Amino acid sequence: MLNTLINMIYPPRCIICDSVLKVGEKMLCPDCRDKLTYIEEPTCVCCGREIQDDEEFCENCVGRVLPYDCGKSVLLYDENMKNSVSKFKYHGRQEFAISYAKIIYDRLYDWISDLNAEVLIPVPAHKSRLKKRGYNQAALIASELSKLTKIPTIDDFLIRTKKTERQKELNAEERRNNLSGAFELNPIYFKKFGENSEEIFGSAIIVDDIFTTGSTMEECASVLRKIGVRNIYFICLCSTMI
Ligand SMILES: [Zn+2]
Ligand SMILES: [Zn+2]
Repeated sequence: MLNTLINMIYPPRCIICDSVLKVGEKMLCPDCRDKLTYIEEPTCVCCGREIQDDEEFCENCVGRVLPYDCGKSVLLYDENMKNSVSKFKYHGRQEFAISYAKIIYDRLYDWISDLNAEVLIPVPAHKSRLKKRGYNQAALIASELSKLTKIPTIDDFLIRTKKTERQKELNAEERRNNLSGAFELNPIYFKKFGENSEEIFGSAIIVDDIFTTGSTMEECASVLRKIGVRNIYFICLCSTMI
């Protein structure tokens, strides 16, 4: 009853062209169904980008030591997804998180099941940005993904202590410097777990909307590693080409 009412006031819309979806249509209108570009296996274990059959790493990641085990992104961050994510992030279209999580789940269901992760941890937003925007887009995706996977999500496990420059305008080196020390374990959980790493999760999946250089993932994963999380993975909705 409530759902019907909500659907009447805010009918579900296509995540690409924003047209109102007809009954039975999910996420995308028929015109946009072919407009998503999925990242195909095999993928680099470090950055989740497509690679050749006989490789394990892409040329950017060969020889790199990373604080996480591996990760995957689902869609290419092309013009269509750029527009979609921009509405989601900056124009209040929070309901897109439901569709995004479904896209991730449909694509990565097997992989996620095999990980046996105990928790989903969204990349946190700085509190000033949260105040301005009203929500953390990564937390919304994690929350919807949690409903589908039944893996609990903890939104405030990590906190963003440094208000960083917009990453968009920075190169890889600048991004790393910009983000260095930007994330910390929320003191609430530090109190809870104390120094006893036995009680920390054995495995966690970090969730974000866009994978660019990977420096955000590395910083978040380093914090988790430091507190004793043994297996760390990531899932991103989209990934840039490089
Ligand atoms: Zn559409
Ligand atoms: Zn790679």
